[in-house]
Amino acid sequence: MGLLAKGTALDWPDAKKQAHLVRSWGIKQLLEIWNKAKGKEADAMLWGDEVEYLVVLYSENDPKVLLSLRQADILEALESDKGLSKDAGAQDGSSEQTSLPPPVFHPEFGRFMLEATPGKPWGIEFKELLKVESDMKLRRRIAKDHMLPNEYPITLTTFPRLGSPGVFTDPAYPVSGPKLRSQFVPDEIANPHIRFPTLAANIRSRRGRKVQVNVPVFKDEKTPWPWRDPTVNYELHRWPEDDDVRNGAAPDNFIHMDAMAFGMGSCCLQITFQAKNITEGRQMYDQLSPLGPIMLALTAATPIYKGFLADTDVRWNQISNAVDDRTPEELGEKPLTNDRWRIPKSRYASNSTYISEDARLRPEYLDPDLIIDEDIKQQLLDGGMDDRLATHFAHLFIRDPLVIFSEDLKELDLNKTDHFENIQSTNWQHMRFKPPPADNNIGWRVEFRPMEIQITDFENAAFAVFIVLITRVILSYNLNFYIPIVKVDENMETAHARDAVLTRKFYFRRNLFPTTRAPRSSASGSSTPTTTASRPPTPTGPVEDEYRLMSVNEIINGTAYARATTPGMHDDKDGGGEDEFPGLIPLVESYLDSVNVDVTTRCRLATYLDLIRKRASGELWTAARWIRHFVTNHPDYRKDSAVDDKIVKDLVAAVIQVGEAEAQGKAFRDIRGVEGFLRELR
Ligand code: ADP
Ligand code: MG
Ligand code: MG
Ligand code: MG
Ligand code: MG
Ligand code: MG
Repeated sequence: MGLLAKGTALDWPDAKKQAHLVRSWGIKQLLEIWNKAKGKEADAMLWGDEVEYLVVLYSENDPKVLLSLRQADILEALESDKGLSKDAGAQDGSSEQTSLPPPVFHPEFGRFMLEATPGKPWGIEFKELLKVESDMKLRRRIAKDHMLPNEYPITLTTFPRLGSPGVFTDPAYPVSGPKLRSQFVPDEIANPHIRFPTLAANIRSRRGRKVQVNVPVFKDEKTPWPWRDPTVNYELHRWPEDDDVRNGAAPDNFIHMDAMAFGMGSCCLQITFQAKNITEGRQMYDQLSPLGPIMLALTAATPIYKGFLADTDVRWNQISNAVDDRTPEELGEKPLTNDRWRIPKSRYASNSTYISEDARLRPEYLDPDLIIDEDIKQQLLDGGMDDRLATHFAHLFIRDPLVIFSEDLKELDLNKTDHFENIQSTNWQHMRFKPPPADNNIGWRVEFRPMEIQITDFENAAFAVFIVLITRVILSYNLNFYIPIVKVDENMETAHARDAVLTRKFYFRRNLFPTTRAPRSSASGSSTPTTTASRPPTPTGPVEDEYRLMSVNEIINGTAYARATTPGMHDDKDGGGEDEFPGLIPLVESYLDSVNVDVTTRCRLATYLDLIRKRASGELWTAARWIRHFVTNHPDYRKDSAVDDKIVKDLVAAVIQVGEAEAQGKAFRDIRGVEGFLRELR
């Protein structure tokens, strides 16, 4: 997590008093990095992935699966394993693995979580793409090797019974502790390092009440309606925050959760890229932004919360709500008297602005209502930063620092970036622009953050590789994905719908190519196809004509493929226009055709692209869909939305078996194949 310094963490009222100081020092540190690194050139095209795991305790004889809270012990075992640092990569005979440096394990918010990254970032060569899957498998195996025999690292996004009544952790602790004040999860659910409970407590204090994570429940045949979350306790009187549910925090038809762990306890798949220079980094940030919601929908894996089927498929909004520290004034519930702004989004949200100085970025794509701290922007401008980047950071810096160590306030150290990172790393947007560290030894990086973790490493590798390939295509062809940033927000909401991949359309740019644009004739409103070639380059024209609604299938596979595979989605009922969109996979393929890739590599890449292609067309299922199917076909499921311990035990057993089979070389190209595989086992 980068910020694991030890010290005295300030409680909220004291932290609030120091917020201004931290921001002003943070800006000075940022300007220091900016001035040192803005001219950095020719950094290598490196990239790296991050995989997050839940650690579960499972045994055939126990009636339920529990979350294991042994994160610290497991990390310690990993750290002290000398063999690991020497030749962990050589345990497996395959030639791909012998060259892998040992992976790195990191703590995460949940005390039942681990994060693993490759031992060093991946390089630019195509053969690097083939190492990722083996490395992910290696990470999983090494993690397992440092656990108890009945502990397993699994890559479900969320633990389906986190916060359910009764015991769900080992060891068990009572709920309603002083830090989280949750009626569903104990304080011990969080990593005990002072940073994490302080973060949770200060978010709660700043808000003036607990966080409210409400997810619409899935209405099944026998779900009572209106549905009242039966696990909410209205009779608790231990903390002032116990009034929250009596004051309407738990509306009907929503699964109600009340703690940071319900969001930050979820696992995701992140990819970080190093750009050759800051200009390229800013371009990558902008161009990958509109892909965020599409990739969120494609990786959907989160259909269960707190023991109930949800009516949404992804984790995003739950994390957003779980760390939403906005006060009633900032939320617009009370007149602004003490706070400075009404703030439309949580500090965990899709990003709110573009940052490139690309001439193709039209002012209309930016949000005219973006909230920024004008004083901070002025300081950045005075320090030599350009307007657009200054705007980005002046937006991030509208937030208060949440965890402040008093030891760090003695003097400003311009050789560090701690105060800058304090604000930066608690702005959890779907893209992150990462400046070089103070010592400047690495370059400008961009992180792609929206994807959900997948059950198998084949899938995780496929999505990682796909994002890498798309990035290469963007840079090689200088593609233009710009749409108004507020449409990216809308797409992010759309991505939450059940089966959004197959049932929803997303705003997407019609013409990605740099020189010509093919705006639909808005005067006639006709849907006559317009060809790119027949129109001259037009620098302006209505922005609304530059994009239209597309299915994920169309975006990924192109209009022709989408019409053939999901015709019902492409009858042009919404009048979006029928112009042809080439599809991202065909673009990746023509890019691969144009560069020198050996046959073996190309074949392996094809298996990854095939997964993405078929996910987008519905031929393969998302994990969310498969989990729903597993639950609703389980003999114990009563069609009332409740997912009990036995169902979760069987689900986790299936996930563990898949992981083990995959480690032994079995390929799961289709998550549905899991069921046949499990039948064979029995
Ligand atoms: P964070 O948790 O802040 O996102 P991590 O330290 O976990 O960051 O690393 C994120 C990813 O960045 C890892 O996969 C790592 O291998 C990768 N990485 C490290 N250095 C570089 C670099 N110079 N360029 C690109 N990726 C890098
Ligand atoms: Mg990390
Ligand atoms: Mg992190
Ligand atoms: Mg880090
Ligand atoms: Mg992480
Ligand atoms: Mg990360």
